[in-house]
Amino acid sequence: MEFRRLCEYYEMLEGTTKRLEMREILVRLLREVSPEEAEKITFLSLGRLYPPYVGIELGMAERLAMRSIRMVTGASESEIEKAMAKLGDLGLVAEQLLSRKKSQTLLFQEPLTVNQVYATLERIARQTGEGAMEDKVRLLTGLLGKAEPKEAKYIVRLITGKMRLGVADMSFIDAAAAYLGDPDLYKEEIERAYNITSNIGLVMRLVKEGGIEAVRSVRIKVGVPVRPMLAERLTSAAEILQKLGGRGLAEYKYDGERMQIHKLDDEIVIFSRRQENITHQFPDVVQRCKTNLKAKEAIVECEAVAVDPDTGSMLPFQELMHRRRKYDIEKAIEMYPVGLFFFDAIYVDGEDLTGRPLLERRKVLEQIVVPDENIGLTVAKMVEDPEDLDLFMRKAVEDGCEGVIVKDVSPKSVYRAGARGWLWIKYKRSYVSKLVDTLDLVVIGAFHGKGKRSGWFGTFLMAAYDKATDTFKSVCKVGTGFKEEDLQRLTEMVKERAVPRKPARVDSVMEPDVWVEPEIVLEIVGDEITLSPIHTCAYGVIEKNSGLAVRFPRFTGRYRTDKRPEDATTVDEIVEMYRSQLKVIAVEEGEGGAP
Ligand code: ATP
Repeated sequence: MEFRRLCEYYEMLEGTTKRLEMREILVRLLREVSPEEAEKITFLSLGRLYPPYVGIELGMAERLAMRSIRMVTGASESEIEKAMAKLGDLGLVAEQLLSRKKSQTLLFQEPLTVNQVYATLERIARQTGEGAMEDKVRLLTGLLGKAEPKEAKYIVRLITGKMRLGVADMSFIDAAAAYLGDPDLYKEEIERAYNITSNIGLVMRLVKEGGIEAVRSVRIKVGVPVRPMLAERLTSAAEILQKLGGRGLAEYKYDGERMQIHKLDDEIVIFSRRQENITHQFPDVVQRCKTNLKAKEAIVECEAVAVDPDTGSMLPFQELMHRRRKYDIEKAIEMYPVGLFFFDAIYVDGEDLTGRPLLERRKVLEQIVVPDENIGLTVAKMVEDPEDLDLFMRKAVEDGCEGVIVKDVSPKSVYRAGARGWLWIKYKRSYVSKLVDTLDLVVIGAFHGKGKRSGWFGTFLMAAYDKATDTFKSVCKVGTGFKEEDLQRLTEMVKERAVPRKPARVDSVMEPDVWVEPEIVLEIVGDEITLSPIHTCAYGVIEKNSGLAVRFPRFTGRYRTDKRPEDATTVDEIVEMYRSQLKVIAVEEGEGGAP
């Protein structure tokens, strides 16, 4: 296909916003192309060259593309900048400047083909390392030199990552179904092929090559990411259980990063939730999967969670972001180790498990995941009773999770790749807004540090002051936010105040390594106040069998030596904070709320 013909289609697509018309345009386009071209034009239309998991991206800096435009059109830098200021689109700038030039010098040359344009763009995208910029500019200049103004417009948009035709992967699935003769009949099967290959270009090629039969023949393959199954949400335990027919497997919903891990012999590849290859960020995970996944071939899913190396407790999602860096990965591994919690098995040793019910898949997981300190299956519990589910959810939040995902366990509980559906229902507590205020809490106990914190106390049991009973009630354990000098200083302070038994005014069921006289006041921030069955602060005030806790507490660096322990944040204040959070939720959810 000539590239200018493809550009005509692009102009047609840009000329409408009606989905049906767009589908019709794509169907006509599909009729005109060969299977290989179908793959390429699909990716080009989406502004890419490959599916995301291949990791080769277009996206040249506009500044560089401008250099090519200058060389081809002879326009000056200021002319280009002026045109850019007026048109706001470098594609249009290239089109305009080129049409001025080409009208003067009529060229008789072979028209560009889709294959040629694709091949050059690919070469440009693959240039890396020293001299890459110069090579990119040279290649683009060569391509633009052969392009008509309209073609130049789309080439420049493609290369700078600004295609934006208003079509997405789903538009091509719809168009392919219509192309095959029945949008409703074939759509589901085409979508399935897409969901298990994450490769829309491949699916379009198959549609052209062998019709629906070729689409049906697609199989899950190790090394090719499967689009993830996703959850619906509900906000009450009773509704969730009703929706699931009275019973479900409640699993902790970890606050980390989803990983789809592919294993083929000794090779491990990790894909993100968006099917990007993120293997290089996690050499430690690769290593652990090599040793702890007992299968020759596997596709399994887990949530990776940042773990505090000293306390072993889970850290908020943001901490994982440190692993995004390109350099010093080794240091990041040490400072931000991850725990892996496996929750699904998609494919193991030649068998596609997606059609098997959840509990069978979980059994396979149990067989192949060898648990150790930082690796295992998600904490899970079969629930039939809403109260039980609520308790489990509170425990999950207490343990640093976002809430739970309750999963269908009936025979129809298959793994539905790429679908958000009612087979998984999430139940979160994080509708609650973040805590705005800091709290001043009293150290009532300390835990020995591990790893590089050994020899010091690394985590502290903190309490709020209860005026009514003149006691200090436990409200959280904090091990985050301390610098080395803090730990040194606090270790000394704790040693001076350590006592062999729980001090009389301390009310705590949690037992620290060392009890501490309630004297040291520290300023703490947290994400929210949550219900907790293990802390004694306001126990039974909001709910029977439950106290209140600070979620994700961190030391701010401030020692409140200006405060006596009795001046610390009180239990009543924490109850108030919890209640005002609920009002925030009510207002946010539009149910009105007390001012
Ligand atoms: P969220 O912001 O809640 O993570 P999401 O759109 O990414 O939303 P959902 O379908 O709502 O995804 O929730 C499922 C996500 O929760 C998964 O993608 C995974 O990252 C995470 N997760 C944590 N624990 C589990 C678990 N036990 N089972 C399945 N997914 C889990």
